[in-house]
Amino acid sequence: MSEFRLGDVIDDHCIKCRRITNHSIVSIVTAKPAKVRCRTCYHDHDFRNGEAPPSKKDLKKAELFKEVLAAAVPAVTEAVPEAEPEASEKPKKAKARGKKA
Ligand SMILES: [Zn+2]
Repeated sequence: MSEFRLGDVIDDHCIKCRRITNHSIVSIVTAKPAKVRCRTCYHDHDFRNGEAPPSKKDLKKAELFKEVLAAAVPAVTEAVPEAEPEASEKPKKAKARGKKA
């Protein structure tokens, strides 16, 4: 029912102002605001539904969490004991030859 139109003023979180401010809609995708412009600092950004983006603190936390997870789970990328197929079998060549002949 509530259709968005270009230039409409909506609330959103401005990363520059670091708070919810008035924004004008500058682009709409599938009937939803895609880009908005802060009416306070005129900063354009993607519409984020009024949600604050993850702060640097949060990002750091996430990274730490990842590290902890990586430490808890045995390194899968390093420990590959029985996955070393030295290409000992070459059935492809034979197959290709057989098909052609
Ligand atoms: Zn702003």
